[in-house]
Amino acid sequence: MNQETYIKISRQLRIAAQRCQGILKSQFLGEPDDQTLFCPACNNYCAEWIDWSQTYQNVICPRCFAFPRHRLLSLFLKEQEKNWISPQKIIHFAPESIIKKQFKKHKNLDYMTADLNMPFVDVKVDITNIPFPDNTFDIILCNHVLEHIIDDRKAMRELLRILKPGGWASLMVPIKSKLKETYEDESITLPKDRLKHFGQEDHVRWYGQDYEDRLKECGFQVIKKNYANELSEADFKKFGLRDNENLYIGIKPN
Ligand SMILES: [Zn+2]
Repeated sequence: MNQETYIKISRQLRIAAQRCQGILKSQFLGEPDDQTLFCPACNNYCAEWIDWSQTYQNVICPRCFAFPRHRLLSLFLKEQEKNWISPQKIIHFAPESIIKKQFKKHKNLDYMTADLNMPFVDVKVDITNIPFPDNTFDIILCNHVLEHIIDDRKAMRELLRILKPGGWASLMVPIKSKLKETYEDESITLPKDRLKHFGQEDHVRWYGQDYEDRLKECGFQVIKKNYANELSEADFKKFGLRDNENLYIGIKPN
């Protein structure tokens, strides 16, 4: 087994363990009566979110296992649905199953999944050399991907190229908000060193406050959004959103 496979299997096992913990808790302790939280990813109420780790607590939906970022994106997708009467061509990189389900239920969407390594995707794609013509897609989903790509600017330019003018891409990445400038160092290649420096064994950087600028430099117009100013405090809490978790929507100028 190579190191990359080991890392992937380890992560899958960790997720599976978290899921089992949530299921066991609801089976043995019962569902609390106080179901005041609402997950927009699976449209279910619940009483509490499950912890992911000691440092990232109270975050996962016990029904669909959505994280705050999935719930945030789901709210945005609900807003967008009204525009999907006309057929939309969509490509979803590193597809998250809970987000994929939300597109699959719309039968008039021309939706495909893509990844270089994941099994069961529609197309195998190197994101720095995408085999589609210019102006092909109305919508691109590419969340938590760019932090894995050494030449992320090339990937951003490729994503912009295949997007139709006026089309949008969801381009969320993990961001260390205290960092003014993105921290990256190509000489750090060992998984244990990447974990130490970039927070995960297969990440190649920590994005900082300049992430938005990097997208703009590659040609995107950028909308940064977390609903803190659009929702009441009660709703923000009800949906399990976080102040430091933002949507980055890159739009291709007309
Ligand atoms: Zn859910």
